Amino acid sequence: MAVEQVAKVLIDGATSDLSFSYLVPKGITVLEGQRVRIPLRNRSAIGTVTALEQIDTATVGYQIKPIQSVVSEDAFLTAGLMKLAHWISDFYLTPVESVIRTMLPKPSRGGEEKRKFAKFVELVDEVTDADLAAMPARQEKQRIALEKIRELKSVLLSELTGKHEISRSSIKALETKNLVKVTEKIVTRDPMKEVDYVPSKALVMNPEQEVVLKMVFDSWDAIGRGEPVKPILLYGVTGSGKTEVYLQAIQRAIDEGKGAIVLVPEIALTPQTADRFKQRFAHIKDQVAILHSNLSEGERHDEWRKVLDQKARIVIGARSAIFSPIKNLGLIVVDEEHENSYKQDSAPRYQARDIAVVRGHLEKCPVLLGSATPSLETWKNAETGKYDVAYMRQRVDDQKMPLIRIIDMRQEGRKAASGPTILSTKLRKSMEERLADGEQTILFLNRRGFARNILCTECGYVSNCRHCATTLTLHRGDDRLICHICGFSQLPPRKCPECSSKSVVNAGYGTERVEEILRQVFTDARITRVDTDSMRKKNALRDTLNAFRARKIDILLGTQMIAKGLHFPNVTLVGILNADVGLHIPDIRAGERTFQLLTQVAGRAGRGELEGEVVVQTYTPHHPSIQFARHHDFEGFAEQELAMRRQFKHPPYIHMALITCRSVHQERAEFSLKTLHARLTKNLPEGISVTDPLPSPLVKSHDQWRFQVVLKSNGARSLARHIRGVLSQLTFPNDVIVTVDIDPYSMA
Ligand code: ADP
Ligand code: ZN
Ligand code: ZN
Repeated sequence: MAVEQVAKVLIDGATSDLSFSYLVPKGITVLEGQRVRIPLRNRSAIGTVTALEQIDTATVGYQIKPIQSVVSEDAFLTAGLMKLAHWISDFYLTPVESVIRTMLPKPSRGGEEKRKFAKFVELVDEVTDADLAAMPARQEKQRIALEKIRELKSVLLSELTGKHEISRSSIKALETKNLVKVTEKIVTRDPMKEVDYVPSKALVMNPEQEVVLKMVFDSWDAIGRGEPVKPILLYGVTGSGKTEVYLQAIQRAIDEGKGAIVLVPEIALTPQTADRFKQRFAHIKDQVAILHSNLSEGERHDEWRKVLDQKARIVIGARSAIFSPIKNLGLIVVDEEHENSYKQDSAPRYQARDIAVVRGHLEKCPVLLGSATPSLETWKNAETGKYDVAYMRQRVDDQKMPLIRIIDMRQEGRKAASGPTILSTKLRKSMEERLADGEQTILFLNRRGFARNILCTECGYVSNCRHCATTLTLHRGDDRLICHICGFSQLPPRKCPECSSKSVVNAGYGTERVEEILRQVFTDARITRVDTDSMRKKNALRDTLNAFRARKIDILLGTQMIAKGLHFPNVTLVGILNADVGLHIPDIRAGERTFQLLTQVAGRAGRGELEGEVVVQTYTPHHPSIQFARHHDFEGFAEQELAMRRQFKHPPYIHMALITCRSVHQERAEFSLKTLHARLTKNLPEGISVTDPLPSPLVKSHDQWRFQVVLKSNGARSLARHIRGVLSQLTFPNDVIVTVDIDPYSMA
């Protein structure tokens, strides 16, 4: 008998989910979820320990190689995350190892965890006043240095030589005498270190808020009794006080020694949102980790480290924050749960809100999904009783919903002498009134750049990207035509490249062009444009929003960057310049998105004492999304949209898989897809259907041709099983990439 400890190790980069056995050498301890270096054929590799077991190695019949070393001093993944990784791998058809690496911040994905070290100076032994006094007068500088080090205890070398103006040579001299020592220590990069937060107090809850809070508390009680709990949909209108509920529920979780994760859409993770959390938890500031896209890789890693070391117990972040290694999870909040940015558009193509629900289930923790316009997936689950629902129908300030006016732009176009316009007479008049009254306006247009594209009125030539099947957008500021898919850019032609005509015109309106028009129309107004082009500088957005709040800006014109999570009490007019931008794209959720967007944007108007007005310009005034939004009728919208989805067998009534073959060679992409399609239709299990093989709506992107097939199924498991079975038996040419997107958001 030779019973020894053996670790199952899943190797990075493995395409199959097999894990291999390695001996744990005597004298080192290895944990589940830890990263280790192991021998693999004649090289070494890195992997994650997925299980540990005691085996009688004598009975195995071959020699088990030992682990070479551990590359992380602790387990990177909690037991809960390990389980979750397997669930994601099954559901989204992604190898477990790739899911595991997605769960880690970049600096921890490779071999050694990349941490930041810095030199610190400290005393070797105690130094008394008498010791200092005994130093000879010519060592005055050393004496000052020693005194300073004694005062500061452990101090950064750079701080000592910089801020405290102690010379390197003094420190060297003291080091030689063995009075001080210089050591390397891990430092944490804290992006919020310099900021002081004014603590905010918990508000007295109104009855609707009380109910929700009690539902969360009841869930904890039920979990305590070993009963299962359902996710809770918090369906609350904008301004009903959802965030306050989150804050108080989290406080309670913390009081009970548990942790919490709050997911917010990337775009809503404005400094303003982050600040609300930082302020409420100012007394335990170090226990709050905030993960947003503006952090450097190092900062992001250190925030994650704080969580892994159980120092931070509250995590606020976008999508990937759902993978935070909190051990004793008490609550998961998904704010604006309907937001599309919860869906990741590269592998693994997970939907973070769905993952939150799964993680809550696996780790026995309540999940709170908040929205004023819930996704139809969630709404259906609420209707069927899979989720509990809490309603918050009143705005905290008791304000009425703003009045929404729909402007038919077809009529406007006919009225105007100069053809189509972007500012209707009504909107222009309302803006003039606001300017006269010293109130503010937000204008919204979901297209950046100057014009949609440029067009030759002689021959119909349109500027297209040479790498993608899409048009190039004119950006005046940079004087370039830019592809919004691949970033390719070129100089705008002065005459038509096809017919040499000089009649090339700008077609459509982007934010740049509207800004130019606004400056001509409202000559005295203070106007600022907010989009990814104008807000490139760090803190530009924060500064602009602060200036707007301080009423230093009259008109804020922007893309979706300004649609979410902002309150400005002095804004009484919101204009949506073209409500149709999102309606005519090949997407089953187009109508839903437009409804959500109109409702969210409308929620920006009249959030203070003053009543608000919303002007929606559209070429399809009778579209249900627009009409229901106008009446603030989410439930009506959901009812008719769900009826339609059910009839056409669309999500949420079925699961979908979008399989795409991509290649720089058109024929190969097409041929591979056809082969795949043939296999998929053979022995098709009950309840699954397959479309014909088709070119993607965006048939070429980044120089790659794209062909696709869509599968629909009543069950997600049978769908994944069928696809996995087919793919495992096929090999594709090297230059063909096959991707599977389960429950896709974009069909392009
Ligand atoms: P939502 O997240 O639903 O849009 P918020 O939580 O942002 O709503 O609340 C809107 C405003 O009402 C905020 O300024 C918030 O401080 C305030 N508020 C929330 N709850 C209360 C309450 N119980 N009493 C007083 N003010 C509240
Ligand atoms: Zn032409
Ligand atoms: Zn392109």
